[in-house]
Amino acid sequence: MYLKKIEIHGFKSFADRIEVEFEKGVTGIVGPNGSGKSNISDAIRWVLGEQSAKTLRGSRMDDVIFAGTMQRKPIGMAEVSITLNNESNKLPVDYSEVTITRRVYRSGESEYYINKSLCRLKDIKEMLMDTGVGVDGYSSIGQGRIDDILNNKSGNRRLLFEEAAGIVKYRSRKEESEKKLENTNQNLLRVNDIIRELK
Ligand code: ATP
Repeated sequence: MYLKKIEIHGFKSFADRIEVEFEKGVTGIVGPNGSGKSNISDAIRWVLGEQSAKTLRGSRMDDVIFAGTMQRKPIGMAEVSITLNNESNKLPVDYSEVTITRRVYRSGESEYYINKSLCRLKDIKEMLMDTGVGVDGYSSIGQGRIDDILNNKSGNRRLLFEEAAGIVKYRSRKEESEKKLENTNQNLLRVNDIIRELK
């Protein structure tokens, strides 16, 4: 599986729609300071569901929408799509190419799509779990992340190994089941109380 294409429209400095196709192998992005190189990696993190404005080098989530320049008015929507080649079937879907899209409006409304079908962020997270590609995966390593990984105290290194070992989805399912079990136990207590009152 590899990143095949990214399309950006209205995200940070990219007011006009741009499309970058990645070939297999190593791609370097070069350009003068402030030309938007890091905005491309921010776009990749954002489309994968990043919820922290700080991680995206902003202070509010709508800082990702093109804010205008001296020559150009701000725009009302940001949209990023990434296309992953899935010929290896690493993603658990029946498509050889998967396009993930995130769109946000200034009103705060936000939408996610998988292959142009509206979905929840949860669906994207589940699809990418244990592939290394998700927002917490190891395929996107920001500058601060390397320190996190080398720093034993934070426990982040363990999360990285768990993702690589493919056990994150089992931990997530276990946590969901534990929550359901807890809710069922609470309901059972309530039912027992009612039965006792009726007796
Ligand atoms: P460097 O080489 O210095 O790290 P870079 O090429 O990585 O720079 P970025 O940090 O990706 O550059 O881009 C910074 C530019 O993006 C700045 O000019 C900033 O004004 C612009 N920018 C960021 N957010 C927005 C926004 N919401 N609207 C318009 N422009 C934005």
